[in-house]
Amino acid sequence: MCQARVKFEEQEVVTIRDLAFENTRTGRTGDMLPDKDEPNAMGGGGQGGLGVADHPSVSLFREYLRLKTVHPEPDYDAALKFLDRMAQELELPMKKVEVCPGRVVAIITWAGTNPALQSVLLNSHTDVVPVFQESWKYDAFAAVKDPKGNIYGRGTQDMKSVTIQYIEAIRRLKAEGRRFARTIHLTFVPDEEVGGHKGMETFVKHPEFQALNIGFALDEGLANPGESFTVFYGERCPWWITVRCPGSPGHGSRFVENTAAEKVRRIINSFLDFREQEKHRLNTSECLTLGDVTTVNMTMVKGGVAYNVIPAEMDVSFDMRIPPTVNLQEFEEKIQQWCKGAGEGITYQFAQKHTNQDRTSTADSNPWWKAFSMTCKAMNVSLQTEIFPAATDSRFIRAVGLPAIGFSPINHTPILLHDHNEFLNEQVFLCGIQVYQELVPALASVPALPGEV
Ligand SMILES: [Zn+2]
Repeated sequence: MCQARVKFEEQEVVTIRDLAFENTRTGRTGDMLPDKDEPNAMGGGGQGGLGVADHPSVSLFREYLRLKTVHPEPDYDAALKFLDRMAQELELPMKKVEVCPGRVVAIITWAGTNPALQSVLLNSHTDVVPVFQESWKYDAFAAVKDPKGNIYGRGTQDMKSVTIQYIEAIRRLKAEGRRFARTIHLTFVPDEEVGGHKGMETFVKHPEFQALNIGFALDEGLANPGESFTVFYGERCPWWITVRCPGSPGHGSRFVENTAAEKVRRIINSFLDFREQEKHRLNTSECLTLGDVTTVNMTMVKGGVAYNVIPAEMDVSFDMRIPPTVNLQEFEEKIQQWCKGAGEGITYQFAQKHTNQDRTSTADSNPWWKAFSMTCKAMNVSLQTEIFPAATDSRFIRAVGLPAIGFSPINHTPILLHDHNEFLNEQVFLCGIQVYQELVPALASVPALPGEV
């Protein structure tokens, strides 16, 4: 069996339809008016083609999608106002921490019955990436729902769905009168999509973060096109490198020796040959996912002033993403060899070089993972554990020594984060709330660990 996969024993799997039926049974009632679509909304069929009102959780999701928290100028004030209202509705306190000027982290807290225990963190980011509107079927900020119940909008997968699922799960658990031993914090952070430097990276060093006394964190994952849910326990390290190739200048009519271009060619060959090897490795092994191999992409080339002038220098830049299983020192030595072999005087510089390779244990000896995975098993939800191929705020949480799992309860859905026509089906969205309704109690009820009060 592939190590990279966890598949629980075959049992009858609860289908989306089953869970959707459940939703009608357990759904919140009353306190919000159902969403009304524009009767002439693009694509029509805004009510799912059935002429019925939206589920209140779906209404809330669509409302949140319409807030333009999109870079380069996210309307964070609108998000904070929305979250203020959520805290009021949930009757829970909300704290705001300005980690950088104009960059506020909001924290909604549901205190546990034993607040001395470490808490559970449900993290989500409020910002979304820009859109190329001309490539979208619908306005990317109108949250249009098509007749199949697919809701289109920037952030439907990354990750406004998860934000609302957390809130709705908490709302339902509170409505049921439940209480848990551990405190639950919901954090809503800015700037994840621009690297998290003015968001989570700064927040984890803030005394207010320490004061949360976190034991375990949930953060975003990715959609899964199949039946399973994908769970991320680590991330690849991004290395952005520029290789500088100096050479002898001269007239473009001659065979000048030792030119920059010849060196650049060898550098490109080394990096892209390695790229081919890694691609081949990924494509020929069923056990491997994108997070298990190193991706290399040549993203910039600079140099030259005129057609007939051989330049004195040419630069080439690469975006590399390195899995936590790779020995980073050896990998850099390999780069050094490529540079040495490509000619004299070649140097390189990193624009970004992450070296934190912390992974969250997915062994049963990790009580948090055990609670998470056993709950999924009880729901007949199968999990695929993977290394996240890109970067999320989880890396900052893991870097301060806390276990974190990247998880977005989205299955039967193509991976469309940052893509055109990002969408999520309302039934998949509603099922996700139920997943959290089970997961949150399990995590917030993990018995006191050694060393805890
Ligand atoms: Zn995201």
